[in-house]
Amino acid sequence: MKKEPPAASGRFSRRTLLKGAAAGAAAAALAYGLDSCGLAGSSGSGLPEPDKTQMTYRINPNSGDKVSLLGFGCMRLPMSPEATSPAGPQIDEAAAFRLVDYALAHGVNYFDTAYVYHQGVSEEVIGKALKRHPRDSFFLASKMPSSRNPTLDEAEKIFATQLARCQVDYFDYYLLHSISTVEQYRQIYETNGVLDYLLEMKRAGRIRNFGWSFHGDRPMLEYILSRDVHWDCALLQLNYHDLLNRYIPLIFSPYRASEPAPVKWMLETMIPTGIPLLVMEPLLGGRLARLNRKALTILQEENPRAGAASWAFRYVAGLPNILTVLSGMTYMEHLQDNLRTYSPFEPLSEREADALKRALDIFVTQENIPCTACYYCMPCPYGIDIPAVFTHYNRCVDDEYIPKGSRDADYAKARRAFLVGYDRSVPEIRQAFRCTGCGKCTPPCPQRINIPDQLARLGKFVEGLRSEV
Ligand code: SF4
Ligand code: SF4
Repeated sequence: MKKEPPAASGRFSRRTLLKGAAAGAAAAALAYGLDSCGLAGSSGSGLPEPDKTQMTYRINPNSGDKVSLLGFGCMRLPMSPEATSPAGPQIDEAAAFRLVDYALAHGVNYFDTAYVYHQGVSEEVIGKALKRHPRDSFFLASKMPSSRNPTLDEAEKIFATQLARCQVDYFDYYLLHSISTVEQYRQIYETNGVLDYLLEMKRAGRIRNFGWSFHGDRPMLEYILSRDVHWDCALLQLNYHDLLNRYIPLIFSPYRASEPAPVKWMLETMIPTGIPLLVMEPLLGGRLARLNRKALTILQEENPRAGAASWAFRYVAGLPNILTVLSGMTYMEHLQDNLRTYSPFEPLSEREADALKRALDIFVTQENIPCTACYYCMPCPYGIDIPAVFTHYNRCVDDEYIPKGSRDADYAKARRAFLVGYDRSVPEIRQAFRCTGCGKCTPPCPQRINIPDQLARLGKFVEGLRSEV
C-alpha cells in the first residue's frame, strides 16, 4: 500500500411530504451529478474493478494514524424507497452496509458522521455497519452539533448518545461541528464550558483526535487558532472551484447574507499551523462531478478516460497537509469511481492543472447558485424543497437550458426544458413561489445563501416563463 507523508414541521403533513419523495430522491441524485444510469460524473461505466491493494494513505503526525486518502462521508447514505427526503432518517441499511463493507475491503478506513446527519440515523447505521468489523480496522469521526447551541448538560448527553448510537467506547476523531462566528464559539465552547468537557473526554481516551469543522468568517478562524488548545485536525470546505475561481458572477454577491472567509486566505492561514486537514465538499455538492458541456470538453480533450469528479479529487489531494478527502457516496458507482482515483493517487501534472483552470474559467461564467445540497436548511415549515429547486436551476444553467430572451433562437426549447424539468423534479406544492420569506432556513446555510431572496427571484423567473404562450 502506498504511503505518503502529510503534505417537519407540523405545517407540512407527512402525506404531502411523501408526494415529494420521488422528486427528492431524484434531486439527490442530481445533486451528486448522476446521469440517468446513476453513474457519477462522466465516468464509471465499463471500467475495471478498483484495485484492493493500491489505496494511498497519509500519516497523521499527531497520532500516527495511517488514514486512507479517500474518506467515507456519511451525510448522503442510500435511502429506502419510503424516504421522504434525501436527508431524512429512512436509510436503506442493507445498501449502506454493502457500501461500508466494500469501502473497507478496498482500503478506505476513515468514516465521518455527525449528530445531525440523516436526523441522527447516520450515526446509528454507521455504528451498526462498523460493529461488524474489528474496532482497529477503521477510524470513526463524529461532531458536536454547534447549531443546537448546547449547554454543558446538553453537550454531555449528546456525547453519551453519540457513543451509544455508534456502539463505540471512543471516537478516533471528534470535531466541533461547523463553527461559524466568534460569538457562537465563545457562548457554547467557553461560557457554557463545552470545550473543557470535551478536552476532559480527550484526556479520558474517549476522543483520540480533537478538532473542528469550519464554515466561518475571518475573525472566527483567527480566534480559534489563537486559543491555547492543541488542535489535532480541521475539516475545511476545499475544492478547485472555490480556490481558483477568478471570476465571481455578479449574481452571487447580492444573494449572500454575509461574507465567509475567503478560501485561499483560509488555506494559506492553515498551512503554516501544520494542522492535518480533512476535506469536505471536494465536488461542491456534486456540481464539479458534472460541470457543463464546454468545460467538460476541455477536460476530456486532455484526458478522455478521466471523469469530471476525478479531476476535483486529484486537485484537492495535491494541496498541502491533506490527511483525507471526504466524499458522500450514495451509490456503489460513486465509491468505485472514487476508489479508482485514489488507488493510487496521482497528482495533476502541470498540463492537467492548466486544463483544469481553463475549464473552470468557462464553468464559473455560468450564474449558478452556490448550493451544495447539504440539506442543513431543511425542513422548511412551508414545505419548500430548497435544495431541489436550486439543484434544478443549477443543472439547467450548466446544461445551457436557461431561457434568456424570447428573441433567442433556442428560447422555446430552453423554456420548455426548464419548465418540464422543474415540474418533474420539484412537485408544485414544494416550488419556490410558495416561499413565505419567513427566513428560518437562512442561518443554517453554510454557503451563506440568502435563500428567501433567491427563491423569490426564481419564483418570479418561473412565473414569467409560465405566463408566456
Ligand atoms: S424563507 Fe421560504 S424556504 Fe426558507 S423556511 Fe421560510 S418559507 Fe421555507
Ligand atoms: S443549507 Fe444552503 S447549501 Fe445547504 S442545501 Fe440549503 S441552500 Fe443549499
